[in-house]
Amino acid sequence: MYDGDIASVLISEQQIKDKVTELAKQVDEDYQDVGGDLLLVGVLKGAVMFMTDFARALPQPAQLEFMAVSSYGSSTSSSGVVRILKDLDRDIANRHVLIVEDIIDSGLTLSWLLKNLSSRNPASLEVCTLLRKPDAVQVDLPVKYVGFDIPNEFVVGYGLDYAERYRDLPYIGSLDPKVYTSGV
Ligand code: 5GP
Ligand code: MG
Ligand code: MG
Repeated sequence: MYDGDIASVLISEQQIKDKVTELAKQVDEDYQDVGGDLLLVGVLKGAVMFMTDFARALPQPAQLEFMAVSSYGSSTSSSGVVRILKDLDRDIANRHVLIVEDIIDSGLTLSWLLKNLSSRNPASLEVCTLLRKPDAVQVDLPVKYVGFDIPNEFVVGYGLDYAERYRDLPYIGSLDPKVYTSGV
């Protein structure tokens, strides 16, 4: 699949699986006392693979909601100006909300999302991200669960795209620079 486009595999399918299980166990322990009232909010489209695997690995029941946001600006960097493409279907007031994200880079998208969702008065609000880049560590964001800290390179696969491609790869890899330059 996508022969030659992936320069290297950064995180294998098995490594993702193990991490998802580990995160789900950790979340399950932390949410023992909410009585199955956990609401997962997945951010489309990037987090969809992580969200569905995570929900299935989670020992306790959880409800699934999705939100789609888009940041204005170029496709490889974030501007912090976010618009809602698809909002939540339900009220999250008094709910225990866990945002499920694919990747945090500048943190601008998440910072906006946290502000937006917390204004809806959830009982609690936490973040679980599969990937985090170095810049995100500099910003003061309350990210409770992090799968992998990765180097500052553009990655694709397992939900993450470049120009809507590569989301269906089962692993996370870095894109060969020739893909950017050949104008796919
Ligand atoms: P932030 O606002 O934290 O800078 O950007 C977060 C969003 O930018 C992610 O949800 C994702 O859509 C995109 N993004 C950031 N880094 C990468 C990357 O390495 N690969 C891909 N495919 N998307 C990324
Ligand atoms: Mg995302
Ligand atoms: Mg994208």
